Amino acid sequence: MTLNETVARLTAGGIENARGEARMMFRRFAASSDAELYGGNPASDSDALRDAIKRRLSHEPLAYILGEVEFFRETYLVTPDCLIPRSDTELLVEEAIRRLPHGIRFADLCTGSGCIAGSVLANRTDLTADAYDVSEAALNLARKNAVRNGTADRTGLFRLDLLAEPLPRRYGAILSNPPYIADDVIPTLSPEVRREPRIALSGGKDGLIFYRALLDRHVSAVEPGGLLMFEIGYDQADAIRSLADRAGLPCEILRDLGGNPRCAILTRPR
Ligand code: GLN
Repeated sequence: MTLNETVARLTAGGIENARGEARMMFRRFAASSDAELYGGNPASDSDALRDAIKRRLSHEPLAYILGEVEFFRETYLVTPDCLIPRSDTELLVEEAIRRLPHGIRFADLCTGSGCIAGSVLANRTDLTADAYDVSEAALNLARKNAVRNGTADRTGLFRLDLLAEPLPRRYGAILSNPPYIADDVIPTLSPEVRREPRIALSGGKDGLIFYRALLDRHVSAVEPGGLLMFEIGYDQADAIRSLADRAGLPCEILRDLGGNPRCAILTRPR
C-alpha cells in the first residue's frame, strides 16, 4: 500500500482531509519520515497501517486511531471514553492562563481527557486544580494525561455527577467545557462525532442542562470575586447571558478564531 493509494482510498471513502490524514497514519504506523511524506510516495505493508485505514474508512475519528492528539501546547492520550480535545477549546484555556489569579486552586468540571486542567496547569505552574468527571474511564485517562504532561502532582481527580451532587469544597475559579449539544441535533452530526461518547456530547433537550446546573448549584462553590469560565456552543450566547442575568452574575462572551461566540466568563459578585 502506498501513500498515494491510501489518499485515493480515503478520498473515495468520503474522508475530507485525506492526504493530511494519510500522512499522519504513515508517520505513525509505517515510520515514514517527513522527507518521504512530503517529497515522495512511501509504501508499507504494515498490518497496523492496514488496520488503521480500515478503521478510518468506517468513520472512526483519526484521533482514536492514532491514540493521541495535540491540544494547546501539550499532547493528550485519547480513547473512545473521552471527547476528542478541539482547537475551539484552546480559547478557554488561553483566557484562563491569562486571567486566573496567582496561586489559586481551580476546578475543571467534565474534564474528559483532562485537557483543560492539564494545559492550564502546564502553562501556569503557580496553580493547582481538581478535575471532575462522571466517568471513571475518563478519569483514568485524565490521570495518565496529567502524568504525561507533568501536572499530576498539582491535579486532584474525582468522580462527580454535577447534575446531582454538590462540589465538596470551594475554588478560586470553575472552568468547564460541559456537553452542550441539544439531543435532536446529535443525529445530524458527522459519523465521526457520533462515535464520541454520547454523555460527552449531550446537553439534554435544549443543550443547556449543564449550564443550568452550573449556575443553579455550583456558583456557591466559587469564592466571591472568582471566575466561572465555560465553553459554549456557537448559538448559545443569548441563552447563557440570560441564565447569568437570572443568577445575578456579570457575563462576558468571547468569540473564537472562526468568529463564533465560544467562551463565557462570569464573575461571582463579592
Ligand atoms: N472538558 C473536556 C474537553 O474539553 C470534555 C468535554 C466534554 O466531555 N464535553 O475536551
